[in-house]
Amino acid sequence: MELRLKCKACKDYHDFDRRIPEGYAGWCYDNMEWLDPAEPLPSLTQDEYWQRSETRPQIGETWKLCVTRPFHEQTGNTFYVVYESAYQFFNGYEKAEEVDSSAIVQCRFERVFETDEITAWIEVTILDVIPFRELASRFPAYETCEPLGSFYSEPCRDTDLNAPPWKLIYFSTAGEYGSYKTIFTDENGVKHLVLHSTFCGWSENTYFGNIIQKS
Ligand SMILES: [Zn+2]
Repeated sequence: MELRLKCKACKDYHDFDRRIPEGYAGWCYDNMEWLDPAEPLPSLTQDEYWQRSETRPQIGETWKLCVTRPFHEQTGNTFYVVYESAYQFFNGYEKAEEVDSSAIVQCRFERVFETDEITAWIEVTILDVIPFRELASRFPAYETCEPLGSFYSEPCRDTDLNAPPWKLIYFSTAGEYGSYKTIFTDENGVKHLVLHSTFCGWSENTYFGNIIQKS
């Protein structure tokens, strides 16, 4: 089965360019919502309250995800999704431990429970879980001569969070176009750009990897 979701704003489909820019290891979905495993499956047609998960998925588990555009997959496909706890999802990161609790999760698409063309509840099997910190060692380092703040973006100068070993930086133009970067400093003082989200209008892309500056 193919599931392709429409844009909430214009009620139409958009095409997404998921090519991975040189230097990054992968592309992933962001802003998808993870249902607390103890909760019953909510209905899309009723505006009921449901609890998002505060615990990170583990390999081999089955999870329920609420997905929206740009989600477009066939059942059986594997893809990556950012996991962040309910607290971070709504409030943003405030402490280093919160960034540490997030991960890139590789999922296999098992089935669709319910969809209304804009939103869907799906079931996934967890194939791999890479905590943000492990991105800096899981993938071979890609060395760049660019400062990490301007690698594949306009220079990111504004700091969202400075909580060693994490630094979150961004730039945006009136919310229309922008970029968020997550940088990890390892025990040797080497900085690794591990996550990068870019947005422009309805289009949003998130890349993960291990990019370091050539010394
Ligand atoms: Zn649209």
